[in-house]
Amino acid sequence: MTSHIMPTYGRLPVTFTKGEGAWLWDENNKRYLDALSGIAVCNLGHAHPAIHEALCKQSKTLLHTSNLYNIEVQEQLATKLCQLSGMDNVFFGNSGAEANEAAIKIARLYGHNKNITNPVVLVMQKSFHGRTMGTLSATGNPIIQDGFSPLLEGFVHVSYNDTHAIEIAIQQNPNIVAVLVEPIQGEGGVNIPAPDYLTQIRKLCDQHDLLMMLDEVQTGIGRTGAWFAFQHNNITPDVCTLAKALGNGVPIGACMAKGKAATLLTAGKHGSTFGGNPLVCSVALAVLNTIENENLCQQAADKGDAIQQAFTEQLKNNKHVLEVRNKGMMIGIQLDAPCTELVAIALAEGLLINVTGATTIRLLPPLIINKEQIELLVSKLSVLVNCHTQQ
Ligand SMILES: *Cc1c(COP(=O)(O)O)cnc(C)c1O
Repeated sequence: MTSHIMPTYGRLPVTFTKGEGAWLWDENNKRYLDALSGIAVCNLGHAHPAIHEALCKQSKTLLHTSNLYNIEVQEQLATKLCQLSGMDNVFFGNSGAEANEAAIKIARLYGHNKNITNPVVLVMQKSFHGRTMGTLSATGNPIIQDGFSPLLEGFVHVSYNDTHAIEIAIQQNPNIVAVLVEPIQGEGGVNIPAPDYLTQIRKLCDQHDLLMMLDEVQTGIGRTGAWFAFQHNNITPDVCTLAKALGNGVPIGACMAKGKAATLLTAGKHGSTFGGNPLVCSVALAVLNTIENENLCQQAADKGDAIQQAFTEQLKNNKHVLEVRNKGMMIGIQLDAPCTELVAIALAEGLLINVTGATTIRLLPPLIINKEQIELLVSKLSVLVNCHTQQ
């Protein structure tokens, strides 16, 4: 049968029909352990009762009204996000790219308020910020930009985890108004920067009156062992974007702002028809309450470290495994050669994993994964890695 879907994804040959917790089942009732969570989306796993309940309850009363009217549950969600993050206010969109678009617009308004007519946002090589024209221009990956010129102006790229490079760029370019950076690069290969990287960026932004903007679309909502990755550094950014795990599968994005960044997007400056509608907000609120009630941030920290240690032990004699790194449940197994084939091999063995940057196995298990499932993940994948690399 010919597909009528545009071939933007090289899809794996499997169709899932149901899920429960960290398990998925396909059409033939074969069971898979999900160590990817729909790319850091389903932090609460599949078919979580709290999500089911929020969806049912809200769909019985009201799905959508429009942002032309007050939306009580959107207010509640924004309040909760600000309490958890220390930010001041929130704009809701429907995806990570849209959240970052809002951030880029805030940066440009900030620049124009300072009488900078061509404001520039400093971004990182190997970064990923989305697929819209604005966010793909910000993205530091030529493959994602290929074929889409002219790119949006107003971005300068420097290497990741290099504060000196940021300093030099700021000195050379007086039009820089903001720094947009991922606390850990996800798509770029689970790149974990030096522990004080964000603290140093905060200092530079304060010194030079720039907005510090964090793309926490992948790292946010408990993934790294804290609500937000910046909380490991005891700093607060001026802007922080969220999406992926905020809705556990319903499409929602958020751009949070603080202080001077929080007053720029005023009436008529931005909008979204669907953004923050009652349905997605009640689900997102249930997500936050569940993570809080089940102490899943701490669990992500503990389980992530346990997984890292177990893999390190299982793979210690394999000289092709260079490193197993993690921050909470954002886990990368660094091999010395391309290993993209492992994704299909693991799938056949009933295990969902991902490979980024060609040589890094990326694991993003649901935060609710249990001990037995962790043991299965470690033993199964270690065997596959050992077989594969020793051929
Ligand atoms: C996934 C991702 C995005 C894009 O999110 P979409 O919802 O696909 O638009 C942006 N930034 C980061 C860091 C991401 O991981």
